[in-house]
Amino acid sequence: MTDAPTDTLSAARAGRGDLVRWTRTLIPTSKEAPADAEAVSHRLLVRAGYIRRVGAGIYDYLPLAWRVLTRLCRIVREEMNAAGASEMLMPALEPLEFFKETGRDAEYGDNLFRLTDRHGRVCALAPTHEEIITDLMKAAVSSYRQLPLNLYQIQTKYRDEFRPRSGLLRGREFIMKDAYSFHLTPDGPGGLGEGYEAMRRAYTNIFTRCGLDFTVVEAQSGPIGGSASHEFMVNCDAGEDLILRCPTSGYAANVEKCEIGDRAWSFDGEPTGELEQVHTPNMPSIEEVGKYLKVKPRNMLKTVVFRAAGDASPAGVRWVLAVVRGDHDVNEGKVKDAAGFPVALANEAEARAAGFAIGYVSPRSALGRSDCLLLVDPDAARGMDPEKDKPMFWAAGADEPDHHVKHFNWRREMGKVLDNPGSVKVADVRNAQAGDPSPRDPSARLEEGRGIEVGHIFQLGTKYSEAMGFTVLDPDQRRRPVIMGCYGIGVSRTLQACVEMSHDDDGIVWPAAVAPFDVLITPISADEAGDQMRAALRLADELTTAGLDVLIDDRDERPGVKFKDADLIGVPVRLTVGAKALAEGCVEFTRRARARDAERVPLDQAAARCASA
Ligand code: ATP
Ligand code: MG
Repeated sequence: MTDAPTDTLSAARAGRGDLVRWTRTLIPTSKEAPADAEAVSHRLLVRAGYIRRVGAGIYDYLPLAWRVLTRLCRIVREEMNAAGASEMLMPALEPLEFFKETGRDAEYGDNLFRLTDRHGRVCALAPTHEEIITDLMKAAVSSYRQLPLNLYQIQTKYRDEFRPRSGLLRGREFIMKDAYSFHLTPDGPGGLGEGYEAMRRAYTNIFTRCGLDFTVVEAQSGPIGGSASHEFMVNCDAGEDLILRCPTSGYAANVEKCEIGDRAWSFDGEPTGELEQVHTPNMPSIEEVGKYLKVKPRNMLKTVVFRAAGDASPAGVRWVLAVVRGDHDVNEGKVKDAAGFPVALANEAEARAAGFAIGYVSPRSALGRSDCLLLVDPDAARGMDPEKDKPMFWAAGADEPDHHVKHFNWRREMGKVLDNPGSVKVADVRNAQAGDPSPRDPSARLEEGRGIEVGHIFQLGTKYSEAMGFTVLDPDQRRRPVIMGCYGIGVSRTLQACVEMSHDDDGIVWPAAVAPFDVLITPISADEAGDQMRAALRLADELTTAGLDVLIDDRDERPGVKFKDADLIGVPVRLTVGAKALAEGCVEFTRRARARDAERVPLDQAAARCASA
């Protein structure tokens, strides 16, 4: 067989598919699943010989996985390039000074891998590259005429995750595509908004082409910084993230960020009895206290103590008490927003020293203190029980160790404090949950689902350019800090998300676009000189000429073993070459997704059948 002529550009680029023999590559399939594997996709990738654990959160990508990653990367590159981004590569080893300049050495904390070289200089293994690229741009770009720009790379990233788990879903070393965009203005032509939209479209194309079922959700920006941010979530039950959706308006958000629609509230309502103190020793959880008191968590007040961080808080306010119902969870981001200044969860010792009986705090601990701001969630700010249309029964902490109170009544216990807006604010400070009113449609209720975050886009603003002094001259010859965006895709996580989404009891069912091979040819007999192998090789030649990637299972194994492994590794189309069909000039054609529907196809039509599958 001769190679295709390469004397024209298009011929040189057309390319033929790969032909790989099973016996000449490494596909160590096994029945054994790793004991620690929580996700089905993790078990399947190990069992099908795609990945192997080297250490906690560190994996080998074996040939099959590498082929999938290569295809994923090709899709990513095509869409990023089409959106006008340019690929480059930055080092994974970064001098720690860069992180110190932006304060991210502290923000990333223990998640940042640090190492000291032989000269005593400290480096970090890059978790992302905002600092490095800002430094590069600062040296190379000085005028608005050079903007906008979008640069990206596909590279290994390092994060010392507290709990690496689920294989490639949360590794300590993983492959990420990260892109950074630079603009003179937030809006208008060439502005951040336009660049952000272009990335949102590129990401939508990428994950659609990967065959994934995903939701784009509003997200919190975390230690990367910045304002607007969206996550691309693969919809599946094994996902770590909780997402909420409004069924009518299309609103969707990560629970970290999800707003809740208007809820009526009022502190007014008669007490249900005398305030009664109860001894509740050795009951660390709300549920235990509730059982002992015979009170449901929805009738208990949970008060969480935050400290005002930084110096932006109003004069004298040092503590913020967030009050939610016992069956709800306080949302730190919302507490920050409601307070209007930065807050951090209080350090226990410090809070105790300031007089808070941590574990037993109630709104009453704010009485007589001018250094406290009380933030009450609307569902906790109730004097009447909306479900029973009776005065609301509340249990709460007693503000002394090992004690709770029953019959807490807002008006009686808190008095005039409630009417002082400097001391008490009613605001959404809890996580949303299924059944909550939608923030976009008052008649709709939020629904819950789980997702795997495969992509995250951020409008960074000037956080990095200001910290690192990256400015350009604008058309009026004034220096302005550059406005930035950053855009990540977890490439190795996406590989596993494809498996989590697309598998059955027998193994992986790859979406065609990212499968390691297009066709698996299985001759029942592996006799190199026999008819079956000869037919298999002829078919493989036709298929690779048509540009398809082909794996031939040329192992001298029983058919049952070959079929089981075929199901396990999940190649989308299978051609089985057996004596009986071959005698009639046919092979068997099967799709992995519908393994039971085998069709006999004449040999000379088999390649065309695969190409159109
Ligand atoms: P997570 O919330 O899952 O920890 P993150 O928000 O910290 O992720 P980003 O900084 O936004 O992650 O990184 C961009 C992308 O890189 C994420 O959307 C995710 O797909 C991927 N990613 C992040 N951390 C890991 C990890 N430990 N293992 C594999 N992929 C990861
Ligand atoms: Mg993220």
